[in-house]
Amino acid sequence: MKKIEKRAALCLVLAGFLAAGLALFLFRFAADGSHWASSPFNRHLYNSEGALISGTVLDRNGDMLSTVQDGKRVYTNGKTRRKATLHVVGDPYGNISTGALSAFAQELTGYTLLGGAYGAEKGSDLYLTIDAGLNETAYEALNGKKGTVAVYNYKTGEVLCLVSAPSYDPRSIPQDLETNEKYEGAYLNRFLSSTFPPGSVFKTVTLAAALEQLPDLEERTWTCEGSAQIGGGMVTCTAAHGEQTISEALANSCNVVFGQLAAELGGDTLNRYVEKAGLTDSYSVSGISTAKGSFDLKGVADNDLAWAGVGQYHDSVNPCSLMVYMGAIANGGKAAVPCLIQKVDRPGLPDLPQFTRSTGRLLNRETADKIADMMVNNVSAAYGTKRFPDMDLGAKSGTAQVGADQKPHAWFAGFLRDEEHPYAFVVLVENGGSGAEVAGTVASKVLKAAVQ
Ligand SMILES: [Zn+2]
Repeated sequence: MKKIEKRAALCLVLAGFLAAGLALFLFRFAADGSHWASSPFNRHLYNSEGALISGTVLDRNGDMLSTVQDGKRVYTNGKTRRKATLHVVGDPYGNISTGALSAFAQELTGYTLLGGAYGAEKGSDLYLTIDAGLNETAYEALNGKKGTVAVYNYKTGEVLCLVSAPSYDPRSIPQDLETNEKYEGAYLNRFLSSTFPPGSVFKTVTLAAALEQLPDLEERTWTCEGSAQIGGGMVTCTAAHGEQTISEALANSCNVVFGQLAAELGGDTLNRYVEKAGLTDSYSVSGISTAKGSFDLKGVADNDLAWAGVGQYHDSVNPCSLMVYMGAIANGGKAAVPCLIQKVDRPGLPDLPQFTRSTGRLLNRETADKIADMMVNNVSAAYGTKRFPDMDLGAKSGTAQVGADQKPHAWFAGFLRDEEHPYAFVVLVENGGSGAEVAGTVASKVLKAAVQ
């Protein structure tokens, strides 16, 4: 009798283990099933070279960018088109981790919890928000330089253009891709994953703080003699700008004025406005986390703070978050969070709607409107309206010093105030030289194509 009781107890314990194991499996299946199904170890979805062989990537107009043929991942025709869309489409081997083939593998394989994945060559049609033709224009405008160009709709969040350079042709991968300096960082999406010194585009943040914290700002004038002593050192301009209002100082991009404003505001205040502007946060772009900018403002000496206030010192900004800030300036202080997926057509399932998400308040409405007007004035006063025909454009250039033996980074960022084309944009040309000249010219070509 004792023996039977013992055996019964043992059976109960074993049954308990079985139930617990099953429960754990079901839990992990629900939690990680999509990950298992779209993992490169799954030979139904990945070929022997590790390339995802499920799903088609298209642009917003339905033009195929990458699909599967005969068990192989293939790309669109047109070398420039392949290079210009590489960073949004991705490479077959997962080197570009922010590309659709990696970041949206789950959407491409058509995975659902109950149905599983569809298997090779039967995946989903993933429509990206980008316009491949606009990407080509932007890629060609960069003219072989490293950098990034992006345009997005600040009301809907749709990213219409996203180029990162250097790029390469995924159909014939260069032999020296990993060793040649000209391909340095080719796997990196500079728009989403990098940070750079902002230079004078950052004056739009110092300006926001000054407008709110210094009530007499718009009545003040300053006289720039080309340089000024601020704290323990000099702050210099490219020229003596003479007597200026705040609006003129922004159009002139006067370091002396904005350096003095930064020192007057103090590091704590400036830091608060940088954080409010969203420049130290990460955005989730269709699930891809952007790089966070960083700023060293608190407790630094006045001269360093003056340089930080004009976008130098240790300032470092992510191009995507800067573009969103531009959108918020145009849009009364808030903007849509960027997204890259327009829709996903899964076999036999209805389209899943994509929701527009908004940022929190990055600027007060009145502040945003004042900065927007001043940035529109920049174009007529400094950059030239002829370069941007028929556009209600607000912009700020930046020429960010990156070292004595290197050409500065060229920036041009801004927005269109246009019901039909509510676009914000950012252009960065690494070591490109003058922001207004070099990056401004890239922006001109891309914006003309975008509003056509
Ligand atoms: Zn000046």
